[in-house]
This record gives sequence, structure tokens and C-alpha cells, in this order.
Amino acid sequence: MTSQATPQVISQATPHVVEFAAVTKTYPGHVTAVDRVDLAIEYGELACVVGHSGSGKSTMLHLMGTLDRPSSGRVTVDGHPVAELSDREVSALRAQRIGFVFQQFHLAVGVPVLDTVADGLLYAGIPLRERRRRAADALTRVGLDHRIDHLPHQLSGGERQRAAVARAVIGEPALLLADEPTGNLDSASGAAVLELLRDLHTAGTTVVVITHDREMAAAFDRRVEMRDGRIIADSGRTGPEGER
Ligand code: ADP
Ligand code: MG
Repeated sequence: MTSQATPQVISQATPHVVEFAAVTKTYPGHVTAVDRVDLAIEYGELACVVGHSGSGKSTMLHLMGTLDRPSSGRVTVDGHPVAELSDREVSALRAQRIGFVFQQFHLAVGVPVLDTVADGLLYAGIPLRERRRRAADALTRVGLDHRIDHLPHQLSGGERQRAAVARAVIGEPALLLADEPTGNLDSASGAAVLELLRDLHTAGTTVVVITHDREMAAAFDRRVEMRDGRIIADSGRTGPEGER
């Protein structure tokens, strides 16, 4: 994909980076994974979606990240009603405005960390040298500047997940989505990744983390609790700019 082929998505004037209105997602076999959910997340929030396995958290993340479309209801991301965008526009929105971190980070074997992170900017049509420069900056932000020439097998699990975060934020996304980002890590590495996400939030990134871990959820400004596809509790927007 070249820069000419990529529609530029213009951020719309709205306080919400994500809006769900009566959003339902039904999978074949009549599983209602997300059931008539209303939710608004503001720019600048640090939020988590917490619930037991099977409660619909990953489906929520896929819908927020435009990886999936709802069966009914309306999803708006970064001011864009997703249903009204073409597939190409949705891809551009995702590439330019959303960063993802998943539980398992699959790094290409034999590719140095610097290049893996630099690939996070491929869509933008930026020359390799500039991509690498920005990748080095992103790796410094996540505390991996001493690992830029390393190969994936030379990194610990925690370091790999930090590289995944660097790759997700290199394009300065409006929204960083992380699905069980500490699920495969020992508690010390998990705590370090969580701290990193908090630092990114402090620096201005909107972060939504999915977890089944109630202890981890307690570390978030806002907790959206799910059960059987529905939101059963939402601590709401909190913090200095959003006192309720
Ligand atoms: P969580 O992330 O909270 O564990 P999920 O969103 O992954 O929950 O799943 C919610 C429900 O939807 C579960 O019952 C799960 O089995 C079902 N589900 C998830 N993905 C699919 C799919 N691709 N096809 C069919 N059912 C699915
Ligand atoms: Mg899940």
C-alpha cells in the first residue's frame, strides 16, 4: 500500500474516541457475545474492560478496533461512524488511528526488534530510514533502547511485549487497545508492562485494556465490568479533567 492509495482519515470534533449505541454482536450458533451495549470513552482516558472469560471482552475490543462490525447498533471510532465507511476507509482508520497489543506477540523470526517496530509505520509511506529513526524513539519510550539490534529469541517475554507496545504506538494512535497484555507474563514483567501503559496514558495516549484480572483492573481510573455480553458496572470517567 502506498501513501497515495491510503485515504487520510481526519479526526472529527467529538470528545469521544469510541461510542457504542445499542451495539450487539451475534456469532453463528446464536452466541450473543455483546448484547445492546452503550458505551462512550473520551480521548485521554485510561480505561479497562473487566469480566470473566467469555463475557464478551475481546469482542468489544474487536468492535472498538474496527476489526469486526456489529450485528446491530452503531459504532463510532475517532468520530467516524464505522458502518458508513468503505472497507478501504476502515483499514485506513485502523492503520492510522488505532494501535493494538495482544496477549501473544508474534515477532517475525530473525527480524531485529528495530525493524519489527518500524513496520508499524508501513502504511504511512514513510522512508525506511525515517521509520527506523522513529522506531528507535519508540523503543526508547518503552525502555528497550539497549535492545534495538536484538532478535526476538534474545528477548524475554516482558521485553517482547514492550516491543509490541512500541510498535503499537509508533504511529501515535488516537486509541491504544490491549487485550490481556500481561496474560502471558510473570507478575513482575506484567507489572512493568502495566506501568508502561500508564506512562503512555500520562503522556497523552488514550488506553483501553482488557483483562479478566480484577486485581489488575483495580489499577485503572475507569473500570467497565462485563458479564454475559452486557455492561453490569461502569465506574465512569474519573480523574482531574473528568470529575463527576
Ligand atoms: P472474553 O474475551 O471475555 O473471553 P469473547 O468476546 O472472546 O469473551 O467471547 C464472548 C462469547 O462469544 C463467548 O461465548 C465465545 O465463545 C463467543 N465467541 C467469541 N468469538 C467467537 C467466534 N468467532 N465465533 C463464535 N463464537 C465466538
Ligand atoms: Mg478475550
